[in-house]
Amino acid sequence: MAESGAVLAADIGGTKIAAGVVEPGGRLVTWTQVPTPRDGDAEQLWRALESVLDQVLNVAKISDLADLAGLGCGCGGPIEWPAGLVSPLNIPGWRAFPLRDRLADRYPGIPVRVHNDAICMAAGEHWRGAGRGWRNVLGMVVSTGVGGGLILDNRLIVGASGNAGHIGHVVVDPEDGPVCVCGGRGCLEAIASGLTLAAWAQAEGWRPGQPGMTAKDLAGDAAQGHPVGRAAMRRAGRALGIAIASATNLCDLQVVSVGGGLSQAGALLFDPLQEALAAHARLDFAREVRVVPAALGQSAGLVGAAALVLAGERYWTGD
Ligand code: ADP
Ligand code: ZN
Repeated sequence: MAESGAVLAADIGGTKIAAGVVEPGGRLVTWTQVPTPRDGDAEQLWRALESVLDQVLNVAKISDLADLAGLGCGCGGPIEWPAGLVSPLNIPGWRAFPLRDRLADRYPGIPVRVHNDAICMAAGEHWRGAGRGWRNVLGMVVSTGVGGGLILDNRLIVGASGNAGHIGHVVVDPEDGPVCVCGGRGCLEAIASGLTLAAWAQAEGWRPGQPGMTAKDLAGDAAQGHPVGRAAMRRAGRALGIAIASATNLCDLQVVSVGGGLSQAGALLFDPLQEALAAHARLDFAREVRVVPAALGQSAGLVGAAALVLAGERYWTGD
């Protein structure tokens, strides 16, 4: 293992599996991604991950794993941590899948660290992004699902089981909200995730009879002025703002960094978010919070996964 080497990083979500190589300073030098095999079984998912990891090693011309400082991996939650058994809500093919052990077997001789994808994103944004220099930061991944990770008083918070920060399952509408994939009702994720947002829009008459439409298409239509698209983005933004106001009141946050695929919708999502936040974060300390798009953009998850190794003294307390 090379103390000063680069890190092989992976970021596994319900839509895409990304891999990259991150330099010790935090620069992502090469990356690639593949779609997460829909309805893939455990081994198909594993092969997709293996293929992107091998691909970036090839492109970066790393043939000897000993040149790496380690491997960091973020995966959708929940997760048994630090053992790294993963059961991502939006990847049904993996239930208690031993991701950390499988990675350690396949890429031997280097430290392998696995965390929740949004915890990685929060670490990345705190280390090298919008949260840099701030002591109290929430990082959010608004993507296929909705995840979060907390840095409080400059420390990454893992909670009792490694699952702290799951803001996607904070309840924002218990009466009229939809049933959530977690089994609850009215969770943020049931309203503001890419999957649930597209489903809601279709139920409201958006692009009837066109299967396979995603939140990306919906955001595109909203940008063109489609009324259902605009309503969907408002609904999601509002739910995000309400949840962020609650989190801010609870944790006295300074910065909330919002990343993930859906965050690319920009003002369509952020304007209603800020409006709902202003309506619900009323106490003087809470009004100070700044909600911003992830400074590392779509690479925050990979940079954060690498930070588990490259800045392990700050972001890894697992073993
Ligand atoms: P994952 O959930 O696998 O981590 P992403 O972070 O890429 O993947 O998020 C995927 C979600 O983001 C999908 O629902 C997709 O439709 C949506 N998305 C991707 N690009 C955009 C975009 N430009 N605008 C709005 N939504 C987008
Ligand atoms: Zn839920």
